[in-house]
Amino acid sequence: MNRQELFQTIFPDAPSYRWRQVEQGLFAGKWNNWDEATVLPAAMRAKVGEQIPWTAYRDAQVFESASHDTFKALLKLDDGRAVETVLMANARSGWTVCVSTQVGCAMACIFCATGHMGFRRNLTRDEITDQYRFWQDYLKERRGLGRITNMVLMGMGEPLANMDEVQAALHTWLTSTPLGPTRITVSTVGLLTPLEHILKDPGWPRVRMAVSLHSAVRGTHARLVPTGPENFLPKIQDWARRYVRRHGNRRHHLTFEYVMLKGINDSLEEAEALARFTLPIGRVRINLIPYNAIPREAIESSLPAQIRNFADHLKERGLQVTLRKTMGDDIQAACGQLVTGVLKPLDKSESRAL
Ligand code: SAH
Repeated sequence: MNRQELFQTIFPDAPSYRWRQVEQGLFAGKWNNWDEATVLPAAMRAKVGEQIPWTAYRDAQVFESASHDTFKALLKLDDGRAVETVLMANARSGWTVCVSTQVGCAMACIFCATGHMGFRRNLTRDEITDQYRFWQDYLKERRGLGRITNMVLMGMGEPLANMDEVQAALHTWLTSTPLGPTRITVSTVGLLTPLEHILKDPGWPRVRMAVSLHSAVRGTHARLVPTGPENFLPKIQDWARRYVRRHGNRRHHLTFEYVMLKGINDSLEEAEALARFTLPIGRVRINLIPYNAIPREAIESSLPAQIRNFADHLKERGLQVTLRKTMGDDIQAACGQLVTGVLKPLDKSESRAL
């Protein structure tokens, strides 16, 4: 049972504003435990304290990059499994939280550590939303480090394979944190059925969407994302065209993510295929991502000069291109690396030296 269901089971007759007070209090980050939830009557507060867990994770281990701009936490869950979440400094002088939505992933992208792990289970809405609370507390402990201004659902898992919990989590953040929909990005491998739902369901919040494309050439895409359906490229192109027509505007663009892999998807032919694929869609942004090496795969990141050539070709064709900065390589902050890798956390004295 999630927190809200527990609350409603314990207090079936409580007016609905009571749950809203609880949720808003949890995400405002001012309380340190249930005793401080003094907005609730004492008897109610005591029961909540006894019966509703304060957080959806039991324990956390934090890793910190040498440059102090990326932190990664391994959150231990109630069933003993673990999931990772990342905090990165962003260009707005704030922090971006990278959120996981599943333990493991069934999509099996060949360059992704989480993909190699396979699927274990979906995260619950509380396990998803509490990644925000975890980093908010972490920043609060280190006063002066700023606020969370953005969230990206780009951690472990495929968000659209866990639609109900992800949708509920988005609603919680949008109602109980200062973040508006343009500050949250959901990244997907491109699951077509949930994408249709997103297009049509008025209940799906208008957060930003990013589709991990990685190649606009059929054979290359099939190699990189082996679980993709037949005729994926024309189908996702059709979806994207309708999405941009319906929801695209200056503040709301669709992004295609593209991990740059040496000799696999970084040729000028691939760039031209990508241009031809995206131009008919309308207002889109292409985000080129340098590959973060993972063990087990004999693939390498494209060389910086090749990434530049690739980006230049796209720009010449009139496309908007951004290059993702690599952050946290030293703490293996790419998807899935912490859980699957063997890493030692920084010792406490080092983390405190911030
Ligand atoms: N399943 C979703 C969200 C999680 S992956 C999706 O596919 O979009 C988030 C992003 O990280 C994706 O664009 C993915 O391709 C990228 N990614 C995964 N492994 C990576 C690696 N080793 N190096 C660089 N980017 C990686």
